[in-house]
Amino acid sequence: MSERTLVLIKPDAVRRALVGQVLHRFERKGLAIAAMDLRTIDGALADRHYAEHVEKEWYPPLRAFITSGPLVALVLEGDQAISVVRALTGATDGRAAAPGTIRGDWSLSNRENLVHASDSPESAAREISIFFPSLEGSSTP
Ligand code: ADP
Ligand code: MG
Repeated sequence: MSERTLVLIKPDAVRRALVGQVLHRFERKGLAIAAMDLRTIDGALADRHYAEHVEKEWYPPLRAFITSGPLVALVLEGDQAISVVRALTGATDGRAAAPGTIRGDWSLSNRENLVHASDSPESAAREISIFFPSLEGSSTP
């Protein structure tokens, strides 16, 4: 079943000029880009996006990081896109993420881990509506 998922290519990836390489992995896999935009988000938007984490002790530095410069927000579409993109992304902590994954190959941090990817259909619908309110949720008609 075709799904849509929200991906953020985070400010560390933009600063390190890894946007092309990250996008290449998603495109090679066969996922389609349904929307894409380079933007810098503010703290209020970060708080909405990371609502489940705002009370965590590590949230303030995450908030500072995610608002520290431009990121690339995109919606990817394809068969089981949500779980497929999570698998390509790898474990949260880049130091532990498997080689061959985006984080496993290029991140040595549990904060600056290059990409965000929605973790469920509910998260995808919520996050897509935050970043691309004109799109219609995680599933294609
Ligand atoms: P994921 O991005 O893999 O879904 P989480 O939802 O648990 O991971 O966390 C959201 C983001 O917060 C992570 O991608 C990472 O940037 C940051 N983060 C998670 N855990 C920590 C931590 N222990 N210390 C610092 N930053 C963290
Ligand atoms: Mg998460």
